Amino acid sequence: MAEILDGLKVSKEIKKEIRANVEKIVSGNRRAPHLVAILVGKNGASMTYVNNKIKDCEEVGFRSSLVEFPSTVSESELLEKIKDLNQSKEVDGFIVQLPLPKQIDQEKIIMAIDPRKDVDGFHPENFGKMALEMDTFLPATPFGILTLLERYQIDTKGKHCVIIGRSRIVGKPMSILMGRKDFPGNSTVTLTHSYTPHIEEFTRNADIVITALGDPNFLKANMIKDGAIIVDVGITRVEDDSPKGYTLVGDVDFASCKEKAAWITPVPGGVGPMTRAMLMKNTLLAYKTSVYND
Ligand code: NAP
Repeated sequence: MAEILDGLKVSKEIKKEIRANVEKIVSGNRRAPHLVAILVGKNGASMTYVNNKIKDCEEVGFRSSLVEFPSTVSESELLEKIKDLNQSKEVDGFIVQLPLPKQIDQEKIIMAIDPRKDVDGFHPENFGKMALEMDTFLPATPFGILTLLERYQIDTKGKHCVIIGRSRIVGKPMSILMGRKDFPGNSTVTLTHSYTPHIEEFTRNADIVITALGDPNFLKANMIKDGAIIVDVGITRVEDDSPKGYTLVGDVDFASCKEKAAWITPVPGGVGPMTRAMLMKNTLLAYKTSVYND
């Protein structure tokens, strides 16, 4: 029976640590860190994510601002706003909630963000620094997983880590981070995707499996080995008769895998809250390294 990698509990500890840090800053008569979120359109999931980010800011004592645009906003209007935020001495970090409407080139938007304020860690400069093991903002979800493994002192050195999914924001950076020469890391990494044949042959040999594909209950107990460490990034809204109209379901068949694994993350309460806490951590880092706060 697996033990739980409790992301909710660890994220609360981290937010408490950040709050204590902010209280110290503010008591020295300095302004609190400031995070800005840009939201385009009225996508339900995006609105929930952004509202949660604002709630997290309140919880840790940050200032937060929400900039909303209609889904018809032009690329140039959005770029203009990004230019303002890049130049503002009052803004330490900002995020542009993805996905963006079709008329907007997502790549152009990410490239326009000043890497020093890119608290999502999506800018190629930050991605490159991460790959070269230089200090930088790590993308929040992989950063959250590393922190969870670190807090539970999960041994990753020399282990075989199989990652399912190669997205820019989760799978790909995760594969780089698990293979880095550090703790957590030093794993031998296999990065799998939709063209990987017989994926179970890889997952059955894995000491650590990290799933980020977005397919509810994809990973079953017969696909993992005894004593494996299972990290479930997936969050899919599956419609049902519950009051909300949906339930959040992970990529891992939790009920069967928890009988076989040594450690496992639940959904919800695993990687999700860790991701949220790491955005706060990156914002604090942006504040501390900002040229305006010496
Ligand atoms: P994504 O952009 O949706 O891409 C999915 C990846 O999974 C792709 O690389 C795809 O392969 C691969 N894939 C799809 N079906 C597969 C299969 N049957 N076998 C093997 N690989 C398969 O990925 P994402 O943005 O990382 O999101 C993944 C999931 O994580 C979603 O449920 C998302 O909601 C969730 N998520 C959660 C958090 C959190 O904080 N917990 C954060 C981000 C994302 P190809 O490249 O070949 O298409």
